[in-house]
Amino acid sequence: MTELTSRTIAQLRDGFRSGEFSAREVAETYNAAVAAAKALNAYTVETPDDALYAAEAADKARGQGNLPPLAGIPLGIKDLFATRGVNTTAGSRILKGFKPPYESTVSANLRKAGAGMLGKLNMDEFAMGSSNETSAYGPVISPWRRKDSNVGLTPGGSSGGSAAAVAASIAAGATGTDTGGSIRQPAAFAGICGIKPTYGRCSRWGIVSFASSLDQAGPMAKTVRDCAILLEAMAGFDPKDSTSLDLPVPQWESGLSSNLSGKRVGIPKEYRIDGVPAEINALWDQGIEWLKDAGATLVEISLPHTKYALPTYYIIAPAEASSNLARYDGVRYGLRVEGEGLNGMYSATRAEGFGAEVKRRIMIGTYVLSAGFYDAYFTKAQKVRALIKQDFRKAFDRCDVILTPTAPSAAFGIGETTDPLAMYLNDVFAVPASLAGLPAMSVPGGLDGQGLPLGLHLIGNELDEQTVLNAGLAIEERSGFTARPEKWW
Ligand code: GLN
Repeated sequence: MTELTSRTIAQLRDGFRSGEFSAREVAETYNAAVAAAKALNAYTVETPDDALYAAEAADKARGQGNLPPLAGIPLGIKDLFATRGVNTTAGSRILKGFKPPYESTVSANLRKAGAGMLGKLNMDEFAMGSSNETSAYGPVISPWRRKDSNVGLTPGGSSGGSAAAVAASIAAGATGTDTGGSIRQPAAFAGICGIKPTYGRCSRWGIVSFASSLDQAGPMAKTVRDCAILLEAMAGFDPKDSTSLDLPVPQWESGLSSNLSGKRVGIPKEYRIDGVPAEINALWDQGIEWLKDAGATLVEISLPHTKYALPTYYIIAPAEASSNLARYDGVRYGLRVEGEGLNGMYSATRAEGFGAEVKRRIMIGTYVLSAGFYDAYFTKAQKVRALIKQDFRKAFDRCDVILTPTAPSAAFGIGETTDPLAMYLNDVFAVPASLAGLPAMSVPGGLDGQGLPLGLHLIGNELDEQTVLNAGLAIEERSGFTARPEKWW
């Protein structure tokens, strides 16, 4: 029954419900696929028993006619989500062996909805990166390859394990987190869908913090519908997160419609930047045509502060990270390396526990928060962030959703991007929506000349995930994108 793994979540749900197959068959097929895909290095921990346990509960519930929405669906969980009793390391050496005594709200919501867990998914250390190369577990290898080449490609990051697992059909869907693009860029690289909801839709409780004012969880899956199904289960108010939105969760799946008549799509002129491959700009133009065909009208918009978004992000995110990561001191969690006295133990633990990119961020963050430079960098960045938000507020007076490319390139090779600043440029289109807390999604649009997927990016107004999903559906129906990587692992 290997073809079970090529089905969407909606198809698995419906097939299970109609009695075509049992949840146990689905879980066993996925467990076997996960075990056979070690070459991708997508999972840091495999939890086949967890998936089987949830499947048994689903099979039993089916007999009693009482099914939660995700009964029979096996998922991968990014290693940033605390999972009770199961290693949770955020891709870092400093948390090796850490088994939380609690469960993150998002993963608990998914379990309550009936989903099983196949394992924890590899990621960039503390979600800092765009290629999965900063993981203490080694890079994830993308299931995709360039035409006529065996060069290992990155699946993007930081949710690279999630993207690779869904693209390789070793998870029906996965959780991701997005601080400045980490759901959308890997989704684009892997030819799958991923949505970051409005800041506050998904509880951050139990998700290892990177930059608290930006971090949001969201789903990654093969289709727009699957993302709607998963997001409905993940989202919701949580009194344990003070930034969680106390609002009902919309029924995004039943609200899906690819008829965009009456909708205005904004095209921001500042996103036409130099150095972006012609194929990506051509796909963007194609995306415009698809949305017009779905009934939308096009408006040119301006987001004048776009050019400051990356520098602003690379002040605010490291600042918050340096403060959040102060808790890893060898006393409370994971690794402890003895040194001379208490300070010696702190330094030895942190020197050995953190990788180079995390150390770079902690140093940048500490610098921009230091008494002498706080106003020049951190306060200034907060002000620019407010201007970026204002740009979007004004733009959404004139349009309902914004269309851009997701990333300025297709997947690159492992080891090909060594300059940190070049790596940061991956998120040039993704970061503004993060700073503004807006919902944004990547949907596959097509393949480039090398046979690698390219994504289109939709940014919506606050709380309007529905229009983002609907525009995504309109693109999905028209692009006819069904390409999957050829199996080599
Ligand atoms: N690539 C960006 C960074 O390195 C975004 C990461 C993320 O969204 N978690 O910070």
